[in-house]
Amino acid sequence: MKDFKRYMVTSALPYANGPVHIGHLAGVYIPSDIYVRYLRLRGKDVLWVCGSDEHGVPITLKAKKENKSPQDVVDKYHEIIKKSFNDLGISFDIYSRTSAKIHHETASEIFKTINNKNGFIEKTTEQYYDSEAKQFLADRYITGTCPHCGYEKAYGDQCEKCGSSLSATELINAKSSVSGAKPELKPTKHWFLPLDTYEPFLKEWILEGHKEWKPNVYGQCKSWIDQGLQPRAVSRDLDWGVPVPVENADGKVLYVWFDAPIGYISATKEYTNDWEKYWKSPDSKLVHFIGKDNIVFHCIIFPAMLKAEGSYILPENVPANEFLNLEGDKISTSRNWAVWLHEYLVEFEDKQDVLRYVLTANAPETKDNDFTWKDFQARNNNELVAILGNFVNRVVVLTNKYYDGKVPERNELIGEDQNVLDEIKLIKEKVEYSIENFRFREALKEAMNLARLGNKYLAETEPWKLIKTDEERVKTIMNIAIQITASLSVILEPFLPFTSENIRKIIRAEHFDWDTLGDTDLLKTDHQIGKPELLFAKIEDSEIEFQVNKLLATKEQNKEEVHEPVKNEITFEDFQKLDIGTGKIIEAEKVAKTKKLLKLLVDTGVDKRTVVSGIAEFFTAEEVLGKQVSILLNLAPRKIKGIESQGMILMAEDKSGKLHFVASSSEINNGAQIR
Ligand SMILES: [Zn+2]
Repeated sequence: MKDFKRYMVTSALPYANGPVHIGHLAGVYIPSDIYVRYLRLRGKDVLWVCGSDEHGVPITLKAKKENKSPQDVVDKYHEIIKKSFNDLGISFDIYSRTSAKIHHETASEIFKTINNKNGFIEKTTEQYYDSEAKQFLADRYITGTCPHCGYEKAYGDQCEKCGSSLSATELINAKSSVSGAKPELKPTKHWFLPLDTYEPFLKEWILEGHKEWKPNVYGQCKSWIDQGLQPRAVSRDLDWGVPVPVENADGKVLYVWFDAPIGYISATKEYTNDWEKYWKSPDSKLVHFIGKDNIVFHCIIFPAMLKAEGSYILPENVPANEFLNLEGDKISTSRNWAVWLHEYLVEFEDKQDVLRYVLTANAPETKDNDFTWKDFQARNNNELVAILGNFVNRVVVLTNKYYDGKVPERNELIGEDQNVLDEIKLIKEKVEYSIENFRFREALKEAMNLARLGNKYLAETEPWKLIKTDEERVKTIMNIAIQITASLSVILEPFLPFTSENIRKIIRAEHFDWDTLGDTDLLKTDHQIGKPELLFAKIEDSEIEFQVNKLLATKEQNKEEVHEPVKNEITFEDFQKLDIGTGKIIEAEKVAKTKKLLKLLVDTGVDKRTVVSGIAEFFTAEEVLGKQVSILLNLAPRKIKGIESQGMILMAEDKSGKLHFVASSSEINNGAQIR
């Protein structure tokens, strides 16, 4: 494998429309922190950057909903995110943000460089426009039904259900998130990166050149490339973002996915004037840590951008993880179905490493995984307390008891001692191999095996019995046990930095480098260690119940909020545009070859009209005959399964999704106006 002089590590920029949750941590930030801490321990030149992603439509929608400016929204979440990362020991060299001036400059420069090389296609295309709100509808301003999986709340840029990347015009029944109106198509000019022309390069670079990438990453890239790549717009009609830096581009900004990855470069620039060697020198190893929803952007689009710019290196690896679920359900910011880092840090004070441990031990590296509070408790009590905490405590207690806390002299080693020392070397190698191959679960398991090895060594040599008959032998055993404790502080540092520090405090040791791991003289004879202190405390059932109840309350709340208040305020005049009246169903039949549709004839008092209604799953034709209904009369006629439908029957949908007629509570004449 190629030897690199330095490492440039990036972690996906968290989106500044909400705090960070355990899914983000398990997928991106904890694995990258382990990787970087390990490299630093080995004395490598490594620079690790991250920052808040502060542009894009969800931010503007949130600002609108909360009646704030987009800047207010990102300021708030940037601070929360930054602080919670810091408190968890996530050791970025810099945590920047994309609303920073340096980022706007960097993104503009890169756009201009590509543009000057004619690297973009300028195209006028038809885009959805909301004529009520008088604005173009980019990305999440549009929702509709996903053409791939049928999910009804897909966004104009992506379906969150099946993960497909979409363009707004592909959505079925598209509607504006601003006004709820049905949008119309209107021409607008944009800049496109012709991804299709990068196909040969991507094939060679990824499909031939990076077969070592994780199968989920490689597979997704291959499927994208095999499907055939299309030119992709890098600009949007929006007023929040990095303005397109050319003339006559008013009202247009860089697409958030064009500017966000450039944020890595801007952050590096902000951190050091000597940034170019990290980004432009071929002896730098660039690694992107991301979640699986970002694979296409980091493996296809960003490399194509960098290639188009021409002076940057490309990533050596993109170790994307799958998703972490919570108690069997997909984590969701909008449904508040998450364990929020800033809340965890308050509710579990000084237990940063417990979360780091559980999220690594259970990391979704090869498949989606589930976080449960029961598992959290079990891993703390049965592994951290019972294995790691127990070993260190025994060593410190016995050393204090037998030798007043002074490291005893080591005599001649016998077979069982040598075996243990050999085993430490093996564990070290396994951890190195696993970390370097981005297998952090495996690496943590191996690191914990060092504590297991220590326990086993004490259990087999039984110094507490031997002390009565062979004091000299016990000195050797305890000396080795103390060296194992010191080695634990090294091997655990990438994973559990707070614990590693605590072990060093207890044994009163300085910081050790990675390469000293397994040395038999980390602590010299007569070195004075400290008093015993517990590294971990048991987590009680009541603490877990509290968390589970919190989630159950969220679940209840989500049920009650079936009616999402997503529609914008309207005026009375708007309401008056609706002509709603009473009517009676006088004929009804099932529409052939459909599950949901009934064809109804409705007496509206002034006429008899045909309405196609999607109620057949809940009512038979016989059941609805003679029913009094409320009908929207002035809805533009629509052809449904070849039948012209003139109006819409109003229905209420209950929690379970069942439909109910909405009608006058007493029998009245047909044609009464509802207002
Ligand atoms: Zn879908």
